[in-house]
Amino acid sequence: MNEKMKYPWGELPRIKIYNSMTRREEEFPLPAEHPDVTIYVCGPTTYSFVHIGNMRGPVFYDVVRKIFKAHGYRVRFVTNFTDIDDKMIAEAKRVGEDDPIQLSARFVHEYYTDLFALGVEKADVYPKVSTHITDIIEYIKLIMNNGHGYVGTDGSVYFDVKSYPDYLKLSGHSMDSLLENITQGEEMSAKRDPRDFALWKAAKQGEPTWPFPQTDDEIQKFRKVADGRPGWHIECSVMSAKYLGPSFDIHGGGKELKFPHHENELAQSKCGYPDEDFARIWMHNEWVVLPGGDKMAKSGESVLIRDVLKDHDPDTVRMFILSAHYRKEAEYAPERLDDQAKAKARIVETFRRLTEFLRWRAEERHENWLQIWELSDREYGQDPKKDSVGKILNKFDDGIRLDSNELNPQPFDFYLVTAVREALYQTHRHFADDFDTQGAMGELFRLVTRINASLDNMSPDNIYDFDAANIALGALVHLTEIFGMLGHERESLYLTEAGREKIAKGGGDAGKLADVLLKLRDEARTEKNFVFSDKIRDRLAEIGAEVRDSKEGPKIVWK
Ligand SMILES: [Zn+2]
Repeated sequence: MNEKMKYPWGELPRIKIYNSMTRREEEFPLPAEHPDVTIYVCGPTTYSFVHIGNMRGPVFYDVVRKIFKAHGYRVRFVTNFTDIDDKMIAEAKRVGEDDPIQLSARFVHEYYTDLFALGVEKADVYPKVSTHITDIIEYIKLIMNNGHGYVGTDGSVYFDVKSYPDYLKLSGHSMDSLLENITQGEEMSAKRDPRDFALWKAAKQGEPTWPFPQTDDEIQKFRKVADGRPGWHIECSVMSAKYLGPSFDIHGGGKELKFPHHENELAQSKCGYPDEDFARIWMHNEWVVLPGGDKMAKSGESVLIRDVLKDHDPDTVRMFILSAHYRKEAEYAPERLDDQAKAKARIVETFRRLTEFLRWRAEERHENWLQIWELSDREYGQDPKKDSVGKILNKFDDGIRLDSNELNPQPFDFYLVTAVREALYQTHRHFADDFDTQGAMGELFRLVTRINASLDNMSPDNIYDFDAANIALGALVHLTEIFGMLGHERESLYLTEAGREKIAKGGGDAGKLADVLLKLRDEARTEKNFVFSDKIRDRLAEIGAEVRDSKEGPKIVWK
């Protein structure tokens, strides 16, 4: 894609993202300059089932990817699984599982189940720590060779934070304040500075352990490194570099990861590849909180996503997550999901009304709504009662909204197309403005209200109304695709009543069989074998096929 996507609702605005590193919104390069977007998001430590708060990041970045794609970018997305770390080992011990990697593998499977139930698109790669040990060891050697890592007295390898002057630039903490929160322990005496963190942890009894292999040339330098396992932070430096390169566009994660995890990742990466950027933009999402503001946490009070999905469909959960801007807290309460379920029902009903409306003249229906839009815009240009597209877009630019006196178009087809234009124009403005899904969701519902008001006044026999409704349906499809909602409605868009009936009957074969039985019943009746004909009728009724006699002869009505 070498040029900007062109849409009838105007050019898409340039994407701006709040960068946690620079603490301001920054413009993202246009697709023509930078067609490939690379994103790395820290994934979960898979030691238990996940709660609704854990799904905020995955659902949000699913939409971020879709927004980039709507602009014409190609996206490469990587998110990891931590299957070895302190938490993983502690949980395996608690539940009596010998191998934490096995325990993790089971929860990775459960995580995928939850993720895909919510309609989250697959990442390009899901790397795991346990399958990247060699890469991790090579990276630790690189950091040590560059003079930023050392072997502690316990055989672990530590990162020397004082060797990297930009340490704490991301989180804004001070080196002195770090000293206040340090608790004395075994590890402390092994380090040169209590603020140093582990790249490699020397083996402890009962923990998964790997050797730290070294060539003859390396022995002098690394011989004191004990067998062990990676520290927590190193995996993300390694996996992002391996799958996206040592410089990539966006690094995301929950805000709790900013310090120490992201700060340490950044230090490692800049000390591994000093001439590279590592992440150009850092994004941190807020939490899902419980009423009262406490963070939902695996270790505390939480609501499992699979329990939520027992009462609500995935779209409702997505809408709950996306109805708050990612940099604001989303407060979980069951009533909020009930409200979203009602809101979803409104969109579904609007979908239904539009498809019913268009079905009357389905044979005239053109599948490419953008083409219809272009044609109708051309016709508007010839109608003195209707404003030109350019004039309307200028008014939107001036902040004038559809229902103001300056822009209140009649008749209804024109009103509806203008409403669609405004909704898409404004929605994409919100999407491009630091992925403001909250604002975009508001525009979607404003559009739904306007579509319904228009349909009350429109007739499918009027070709202009028909085209306007077609454009409105196209817009709903486009927007719900970006939100990743209403997949089922979009798939069944062209389904007629007859098609629906056929599906209910099991794809048509059951209907054919029932027709055969109906003919046999007729023959039995002609032969006056009423015992047999009644038997056939009763058996058919048992499978929900009721035989009714009508003017045209007997027919089957499916129950
Ligand atoms: Zn990470």
